[in-house]
Amino acid sequence: MITINRLSHEFHIGKKGSTKVVPVLRDINLTVGKGEIVSVLGRSGSGKSTLLNLVAGYNKPSQGRIVINGTDVTGFNETEWAKFRLAHMGFIFQSFQLIPSMTAFQNIELPLTLKGLDERVRARMVKETMELVGMSEHEQYYPSELSGGQQQRIGIARAMALKPALILADEPTGSLDSETEKSVLEFIRVLNQQWGTTFLMITHDAEVASIAHRSVTIHNGQLAEQAEAEQHEPQKKQEEVNV
Ligand code: ADP
Ligand code: MG
Repeated sequence: MITINRLSHEFHIGKKGSTKVVPVLRDINLTVGKGEIVSVLGRSGSGKSTLLNLVAGYNKPSQGRIVINGTDVTGFNETEWAKFRLAHMGFIFQSFQLIPSMTAFQNIELPLTLKGLDERVRARMVKETMELVGMSEHEQYYPSELSGGQQQRIGIARAMALKPALILADEPTGSLDSETEKSVLEFIRVLNQQWGTTFLMITHDAEVASIAHRSVTIHNGQLAEQAEAEQHEPQKKQEEVNV
């Protein structure tokens, strides 16, 4: 689903004449198979969001190649990216990013409208997705009338509504308490099983990594498979990570 080849990224900060180069990712290779949940671990500032933004096309890599769903997206321009994202990708954010003036139903409907689907098809798809995340009773609720966990379920429903092959999630449970986190993770796990959706999920939380088929860690700009990085971990942990 995703093949990342020798990817490097650096930021150039400051004004002309006094720019500073900040290298963030160095020579990264990563393959994510269809239907896999892969979590990306790493300390704050290690480059996790940078990696996700490169895969999402919000940033251009300094070097390297990214192939998604068989398409080399490395040289895409903004228009090509916008079209590609709508056709293949969904996004889940830490802060949910729901539109406050729209109901739960309207929030989920938005990508379907952008895709140009007609009203009846949209209504059917929104209802189906709301049911899937157990939020059918909340169609007419505004985000401010929902708990954090419920808002994130709407966020997940919005990401899933177009049945994308790939979902990118940046700390999807980062602003939830641990009980709510568990239920949201369970939803992601079930959706992955039912729909075969691939997830690339960023986290600094081992709880989140526990639903992943595979975990990788960014450290000093480089990527390591979790199995190698945590060889000293007790066996039980390894089994949990590799379910
Ligand atoms: P993480 O998500 O792992 O916490 P980030 O990918 O957000 O880390 O950031 C990695 C590094 O890149 C940090 O040192 C951060 O300051 C730097 N960085 C991120 N975005 C930018 C940007 N737009 N301009 C300059 N530096 C950035
Ligand atoms: Mg981040």
